Amino acid sequence: MSELERLAEEVAQCTKCLLHRGRTHAVPGEGPDDATIMFVGEAPGFHEDQQGRPFVGAAGQFLEELLASIGLTRDDVYITNVIKCRPPGNRDPLPDEIRACAPFLDRQIEMIGPTVLVTLGRFSMARAFPSGRISHIHGEARKIGGVVYYPMYHPAAALHRPSLRGTVEEDMRRIPMVIERAAQMAESQPPPQAEQLELF
Ligand code: SF4
Repeated sequence: MSELERLAEEVAQCTKCLLHRGRTHAVPGEGPDDATIMFVGEAPGFHEDQQGRPFVGAAGQFLEELLASIGLTRDDVYITNVIKCRPPGNRDPLPDEIRACAPFLDRQIEMIGPTVLVTLGRFSMARAFPSGRISHIHGEARKIGGVVYYPMYHPAAALHRPSLRGTVEEDMRRIPMVIERAAQMAESQPPPQAEQLELF
């Protein structure tokens, strides 16, 4: 059993916040354990809770279309969420739920070691950019603490607001360039005191 599979078992048995009471299935995440790109959404919805898999509803279908636009399928990337159990009625995750669940995501990031971590939506973005506004920083890659973060709108946002669709598609198309730039940076010496580094 891989480390990620062991973590998924821990998630399935977790009772660290009240969301465990309402879940049908926990949704730890899925994808290769050496994925170059990791997508982190917000929380499981109805379909995800039913199936125990991330991004399987309408937003997931759109994510798959976006991945296809850069020549990838969902099997090529690791997909997870900030919290692993569905909030009732798909409400926003609460701060104490995010805090309780954070160690799972921290460990997933450490185990996978992605070249680029794409945050989908504001709760995911807030992990790396607590005071950032997604309307301002989407599509801008920054390296923080050894991880290149790339914030995007959540695909569901583009389904609810069609005016965002072009923005989301354009941000996705830039990901191969972000990966290339991140790989080049990894090979070069990091600048001194570069805690946060804008790539573009
Ligand atoms: Fe545990 Fe996270 Fe589920 Fe809360 S949301 S019960 S912390 S796995």
